[in-house]
Amino acid sequence: MANLEDLPLRNDLKGRKPYGAPQLHVPVALNVNENTHRIPEDVAVDIIARLAKAVLDINRYPDREFIELREALAKYLDADLTADNIWAANGSNEVLQHIFQAFGGPGRKALGFGPTYSMYALIAQGMATDYVDVARLDRYELTPERIRVAILEQKPNIVLLCSPNNPTGTPLSLSCIEAAYEAVSEVTGGIVVVDEAYAEFAGDTEISAISLLPGRERLLISRTMSKAFAFAGARVGYLAADPAAIDALRLVRLPYHLSAFTQAAALGALAHSATMLATVDDIRYQRDRIVVGLKELGLDPFRSDSNFVLFGGLQDPDAVWQALLDKGVLVRNVGIPGTLRVSAGTEAETTAFLQALREVLAN
Ligand SMILES: *Cc1c(COP(=O)(O)O)cnc(C)c1O
Repeated sequence: MANLEDLPLRNDLKGRKPYGAPQLHVPVALNVNENTHRIPEDVAVDIIARLAKAVLDINRYPDREFIELREALAKYLDADLTADNIWAANGSNEVLQHIFQAFGGPGRKALGFGPTYSMYALIAQGMATDYVDVARLDRYELTPERIRVAILEQKPNIVLLCSPNNPTGTPLSLSCIEAAYEAVSEVTGGIVVVDEAYAEFAGDTEISAISLLPGRERLLISRTMSKAFAFAGARVGYLAADPAAIDALRLVRLPYHLSAFTQAAALGALAHSATMLATVDDIRYQRDRIVVGLKELGLDPFRSDSNFVLFGGLQDPDAVWQALLDKGVLVRNVGIPGTLRVSAGTEAETTAFLQALREVLAN
C-alpha cells in the first residue's frame, strides 16, 4: 500500500484531515446530536412497504427531479412554498456541497462565525473556496452589527449562518439574517445560507428564516431530516429558496443523486411527520434538564435552542471525556478549551449522563 504522500493529491488537500467524530459502540452515545429515539414502529412498517414497492422498479433510474419528495417537503414546511422552491440531497452536507459547487470555487470566499459547524470549512476546502472564520462575541452570541461589519470587511460570496448554532447551541435572531443579507448585497451580491439543521428544537423565541424568503432571492435555507426527524441513517437534507437558486443547484448535482430507496423512505417519514416529531418536546425537556443539572454541578452551560448543550468550567475536558467513556457515556470534545458538548438523549440516557458526570467530577 502506498502512502498518501506518494499520491498526486491536489496541493490544497495535502496534510488535511477528514471529518472524524469517533464512531464508538457504547451504551449511551450522545456525541453527534442524533435523535436517540428509534422511529415509531408503525412508521417503520410503512417505510418498509414503500421500499418493497420501490425495489420492484429498481432496474430503472429514479425520478431525477424527485418531484414527489419536493412536494412533500414543501408541504411539511407549510410556508406558501411549492416544489420549485425545494431542493434535497443525501444529507444537508451534500446540499451545502451543491451550494459551494454552484456559488463558490477558486477565487471566491465563504464566511462563517466560529465556533460553528466544522463541515463549513471542510466543504469549502473540498471546493477550493477560501474560508474565513470570524469570531463570535461573548458567550458565542451574534449581533446584526457584528455580522454587518464582518461582511463589509471580508466581502464574502457565501455567508454561512447556523441557526441555532452548532456546537454552541446559540439561537440567531431574524434581524441578524436580515443584516447579513443586506450587507452582502452591498458588497458582492453573494448568497446567505441559513443552516437550520436544529430548527425543530428551537423555542418559541425564534422563528424560521423561511419567513424571510419573499423578496430575497439569494437567501438559501438548509434543513435536514437527520436530527429532529430521527432519520440520520437515511441521509436526507433539503433546502428552501427562490426557484432560480434551485436551478443553480441542478447544474452541479450528479444525475439521479437521490436513490429510489432514499426518496421512498423520506416520503414515508414525511407522511407521518407529526408522529416522527413526537419526541421533540421530550428532547427539549431533557436538554433543559441537562442545563439545570450542569449548573448544579457548578459547570457553565451555554444558552441552547437545540438538542445539545455545550458546557464550560472543565479543567481537563479530555480527562472528563475519557472518564465518561469509561462509564459507557460518549460525548463530544469539539476543541473549545474547557468545554464538552452533550446531546440530549432519552430520559434514561440523560439521567445516565448526569449521573456519570457527577461521579467523574466527585473523583
Ligand atoms: C447535523 C448537522 C447537519 C446535518 O447534516 P446531514 O448531512 O443532514 O446529516 C447540518 N448542519 C449542522 C449544523 C449540523 O449540526
